[in-house]
Amino acid sequence: MAEEKKEDIEEQENQENKDSESEETPLETEEAVVGDMPKEPEDLLKEIPIKKELEGWNPKTEIGKQILRGEIKDIEQIIDKGRIILEPEIVDALIPELESELLLLGQSKGKFGGGQRRVFKQTQKKTQEGNKPKFSTMAVVGNRNGIVGLGSGKAKETVPAREKAFRNAKLNMIKIRRGCGSWQCNCKTSHSIPFAVKAKVGSVVVELMPAPKGKGLCIQNECRKMLDMAGIKDVWSKTKGKTASRANLIIACYEALKTLADVKIHEDHKERFGIEEGAVKNE
Ligand SMILES: [Zn+2]
Repeated sequence: MAEEKKEDIEEQENQENKDSESEETPLETEEAVVGDMPKEPEDLLKEIPIKKELEGWNPKTEIGKQILRGEIKDIEQIIDKGRIILEPEIVDALIPELESELLLLGQSKGKFGGGQRRVFKQTQKKTQEGNKPKFSTMAVVGNRNGIVGLGSGKAKETVPAREKAFRNAKLNMIKIRRGCGSWQCNCKTSHSIPFAVKAKVGSVVVELMPAPKGKGLCIQNECRKMLDMAGIKDVWSKTKGKTASRANLIIACYEALKTLADVKIHEDHKERFGIEEGAVKNE
């Protein structure tokens, strides 16, 4: 049995070698060939997929129609009522300054413990016809001022996976409660978070703690991108569990941010900790 397994592994390695040979030919990004890790040209990552042709938009949901009629002018009106956004154009229309970024979810193939972190996580299904690859990725969108969204996308090719991730991120927008809960700072402005929060996804536990002004975001890189989009400037963090599985780490960070707004607080504390809900105007 052991010998057979060894042969299997050798076969797999041979296949991989063949794949890497075929990788040498330059490929269009839209044509992902079986078994190829796509090259990531800079414009694929940096292009902001916000459609500005909202004039031709024909809303299908009530929220969309209300926006066109001018009844809703702020995304917080939707989030506060707990209404569900079903069209990404709603977010595009309400937050024109929306920024987006892909998170490094996957890893390229490599020997001796794996290669570089990549935007797309590639998985394969073994079928009779051969290996069928699938690409998944995660995107974070936000206005760097109290509104942030996270979404994931999965497809057989890289470009649709990215589009799905951005679309899902726009459908999962949340409001961030900011403030200053640091006893070293006590400045009553909204540069950090008002209290410590914790969330667990899989084995990963993420704890965010308020930090004094100027400390910066002391957290893992992908989570930092999310906090940056949320408009939080200073935070301390603690993580536990298998943080190498990036998806769980990222979702745990998002869940922790979500619990910030769920905690009920006394009115007096709003002033004491400089708490701001969502976007801060006049900045
Ligand atoms: Zn402070």
